[in-house]
This record gives sequence, structure tokens and C-alpha cells, in this order.
Amino acid sequence: MNLPRLKSGDFRYTVYSMQLRSIERASLSQSAETAILAMIVAGDLAPGERINEVHLAERLQISRTPLREALNRLSSEGSVEGRPHYGYFVKALTLEDFEQIYDIRPILDPAALRLAGLPEHQQIARLEKLNQRLLRTRNAETAIALDDEWHLTLLEACPNRVLVGLIQDMMARTRLYELALMRDTKRVAHAGQDHDRIVAALKAGNLDAACAALQMNMQNGKAPIIAWLKSREVRKVSTT
Ligand SMILES: [Zn+2]
Repeated sequence: MNLPRLKSGDFRYTVYSMQLRSIERASLSQSAETAILAMIVAGDLAPGERINEVHLAERLQISRTPLREALNRLSSEGSVEGRPHYGYFVKALTLEDFEQIYDIRPILDPAALRLAGLPEHQQIARLEKLNQRLLRTRNAETAIALDDEWHLTLLEACPNRVLVGLIQDMMARTRLYELALMRDTKRVAHAGQDHDRIVAALKAGNLDAACAALQMNMQNGKAPIIAWLKSREVRKVSTT
């Protein structure tokens, strides 16, 4: 690629370097978002804590603007809370938030599968392959990413893209809880057997049974996280 040779002071140089800066800023704020999320999950940023933007910008070695962009996005996903005049606070992982968020996918996913209908042979083969990889992984982040991919493959033929978009939003909002659980318990959880049951029903041409098994799969994810959140609340009470 031939880049124009422009000198500073030239108007075109200013426009060009402004474009470059906005590209750099977008990727900076994206990596800042990932880093902040990791800090929340690791407990480096405690629930309820006010985020000191000056310190955090220094720690991540970025300027305030991409940091603000990252915090803004995290606040729309519900991981931090912006309070006017006070700045941003780390949102606590509460039992109540969690229960409400987790009750949504048992409703949405089976509805989307019903609309998608029975999958093609080739799609079933991809689901089986993904599930084998999921059963093998020992890495929490990989397990969550593969599980999301499995469910999106299952719902691939769903004609209602708004519904699939809502499911993806819910995936983003529960990721924090799932990662935190797996890190804290040092156990990589997966629902490989639930997935096998869904695929078996689809192979038998029984969409009703597949939707029921999918609903069960979505409900099964809730109990271990609730138990863990409850144990954290007990720990918090006993240490204060
Ligand atoms: Zn799953």
C-alpha cells in the first residue's frame, strides 16, 4: 500500500492522523474492556468499589478517553455502574441479578430452536464435533466460548435474528458469573451430556423432546452458580 507522504501542518495530514488515532482508540478501548472484566472476575476490582479512572488508566497504560469508552460499554452490559457526578462503580455479583438473568435463556433458547426446526445432517455433525472439543477442554474461557458457539450453531437456522441477538446479549451478561465461578472453584464446568441429549432428540426427529432437553440444559447451569454466590455471601458476612 502506498501511503501518501504528508507533512505535519498539511490539512490532509491532520485528517489522516485523526483517522489513525480513532482506529487505535477503538482497539485500545476494546483491550481495556477485556482487561477490566478480567480484573473484576479476579477480584482485583472489588464489587461496589469506585473505579479510580486515573489509577486504572495508568495501570492499563492508556489515556482517559479509551478508558471511558471501555467503561461505558461495560456499563451497558451491566458489569459496572455509572453514577452521575460520582463516576463508575464495580457492580456486585448479587444473587438477585443473577437469578433474573439466568431465568431468561430457558425461555428464549427453546423458542428459538422451535423456530429453527430440525437441523440438517451436516449441522448435527458440527454440533457433535464442537461438543467433543468442549468435553476435552480444561480452560474456563475456552469452555465458555465453545459452549456459546455450540448454542449459536444449534440456533443457526432460526429466522428471528432479534431473538438470537437477545440470546447473545444474555450470553455476554452471564459470562462474568460463569468465569468467576470456574476461577473460584478451579473447576471447568460443562454441560456436554445435556448437549448429547439434545442432539439425540434432534437425530430422532423429535423437536419437542429437543426443546425440552434444551430448556433443562439452560436451567441446569443455574444451581452451581447460585450455590457459589450464596457461599460468597456467607464468606463476606463471616469476614466482616
Ligand atoms: Zn450449553
